[in-house]
Amino acid sequence: MKRPAKIGKGDKELIAAATAAIKQRYRDDWQEVGAALRTRSGKIFTGINLDAYLGRMAVCAEAVALGRAFVDLGDAGIETIVAVRHPSPDETNQSIKVVSPCGACRELIFDYDRNARVIVPNGKSAAAVPIADLLPNKYTRGPER
Ligand SMILES: [Zn+2]
Repeated sequence: MKRPAKIGKGDKELIAAATAAIKQRYRDDWQEVGAALRTRSGKIFTGINLDAYLGRMAVCAEAVALGRAFVDLGDAGIETIVAVRHPSPDETNQSIKVVSPCGACRELIFDYDRNARVIVPNGKSAAAVPIADLLPNKYTRGPER
């Protein structure tokens, strides 16, 4: 894996958009993660996770952001994507922080743009890595194409 790249101004803008989305819609145990992505055409879309009483129906924030982008623009690719987590009220540290995408989201991000950059936690800061670095030996249904 290559060394993670430092994040830039555009990345901070995405983190801020994801943070704003979850700050606005946070509900304890229901909406705790916000996401933001920038399409290849430069538009930003945000999402929040949709938790569900029936746990397997839950949808990640990244998928919601991608869905919103796809409805508006069709297949516009993912230049960069980030997710952030809002702490529960009982947590000591109340800051909203960048979180890594779950395994399923890594598959989803790769499927919609194999060259996407993903902002991930890096110590106290964040860094950007290619989605391929987060998904070695990606699942394939048949012979490699
Ligand atoms: Zn996920």
